[in-house]
Amino acid sequence: MNTAGLVTVAYITAAVLFILSLGGLSNQENARKGNIYGMLGMVIALVATAAQESVTGYGLLAAAVVPGAVIGALLASRVAMTSMPELVAVLHSFVGLAAVLVGVANYLEPTAVIPGEESIHAIEVFIGVFVGAITFTGSVLAYLKLKGSVSGKPLMLPGRHLLNLGLVLTCVYLGYDFVAWGHGADHPGLVPLLIMTGIAGFLGFHMVAAIGGADMPVVVSMLNSYSGWAASAAGFMLGNDLLIITGALVGSSGAILSVIMCKAMNRSFISVILGGFGTDSGGAPSGDRKGPEGEVTSVDVEEVVAQLKEATSIVIIPGYGMAVAQAQHSLAEVVKILRAKKKEVRFAIHPVAGRLPGHMNVLLAEANVPYDIVLEMDELNADFPSTDLVLVIGANDIVNPDAEDDPSSPIAGMPVLQCWKAGQTVVMKRSMGSGYAGVQNPLFYKNNNDMLFGDAKKNVDAILAKFRE
Ligand code: NDP
Repeated sequence: MNTAGLVTVAYITAAVLFILSLGGLSNQENARKGNIYGMLGMVIALVATAAQESVTGYGLLAAAVVPGAVIGALLASRVAMTSMPELVAVLHSFVGLAAVLVGVANYLEPTAVIPGEESIHAIEVFIGVFVGAITFTGSVLAYLKLKGSVSGKPLMLPGRHLLNLGLVLTCVYLGYDFVAWGHGADHPGLVPLLIMTGIAGFLGFHMVAAIGGADMPVVVSMLNSYSGWAASAAGFMLGNDLLIITGALVGSSGAILSVIMCKAMNRSFISVILGGFGTDSGGAPSGDRKGPEGEVTSVDVEEVVAQLKEATSIVIIPGYGMAVAQAQHSLAEVVKILRAKKKEVRFAIHPVAGRLPGHMNVLLAEANVPYDIVLEMDELNADFPSTDLVLVIGANDIVNPDAEDDPSSPIAGMPVLQCWKAGQTVVMKRSMGSGYAGVQNPLFYKNNNDMLFGDAKKNVDAILAKFRE
């Protein structure tokens, strides 16, 4: 078999491994295997691409790939789990920028144009650069918003939908120009191509600027999808089948994840894209809204230990605060002790708990919590009325009854874990402060709720110490 044949076989193998990887990531037991398939596929893809006959500049390739790989590995190993969405957003911006650069370079020096199909190639270049530019600026802004360097408040310019529509129509017109007279040796299409790149860049910025803090998770997964389509478009430009397949896998899985997350937050995908929802991330509750009624009961560690000893069925709801405090390892020890005492202990996981999809599952898996006691919201919600005690650890928005009871609440309609239906709840957090959506939580004021204030790790450690005494 010649080199081209071997490369094709390697590409098909890599594509199959990527599909197996996605399949593996669909549940916790296989997630590790899924990651390994993905890594293996990527190594095969890189080696096969570098081995192609058309690739000659190995020095240049190494100068780009080696520092890139080292920086990437360092960043990924150092990033805190809670900052993962920021890292993902930055990585998407690189894919977008790469698609823009590949598109412009490919226009100036085409590599995969079949004679007679110049117009098709021009459309591929134009669309690739358009999607890439939107992905690039949108991802950079998403990164800055998630990091807190830019306010999470939606930017609501008057007539913004019309402005966006006008920008898209201008790009369509420029695309017509580019395809119609862009093929000359002196590159007459470069001007419309670059003007469109600027406009698309502004469009990406403006679209993400209009989206509020509470919808940022969906935006990150949407940009993930865009980065996939940008990579796919680059694959068409370069005539690289594997890039087309990989881009399509990322594009479609990102789109599916966006829709799943929208469902979990009870938001329509279109209304997320059109923006305008959400407050400053984690901001204070708005002043003109009436505060919840009732009294807050604060308890200490001894009282919570006594409640745990008395309960026979216990549900634990982890949230963002558990991740910040890194309380999962001590919590896993407490759970072991409780299960040894023949108590039924289960975890209830909300689909948007924490700051990235699957955040809680990853942390619990890391602490070796058995998978069979980690249940999804839909599997557990009906069981709360027959549960003795619910421990809410560093969670807030995902257990807010206002999502069901107050149609004027910013999180109205978001499905939540109905823990207040249990016999008793204990919320462990540091203060009465709000969560990501910046709204007050009436759960804290309910008669059957106690607050255990303080850092989640310190308190779980203290509970563990009491059980070990
Ligand atoms: P929230 O952000 O609603 O609440 C987290 C709570 O943790 C805070 O109220 C905070 O209260 C408490 N906390 C912070 N640090 C500590 C600590 N060291 N010890 C104890 N408690 C602590 O988190 P949830 O998980 O309930 O909900 C997730 C929210 O994030 C949703 O609104 C979701 O839409 C959004 N989101 C989700 C993403 C995802 O993909 N999963 C991505 C981005 C956003 P206090 O300050 O009083 O301690």
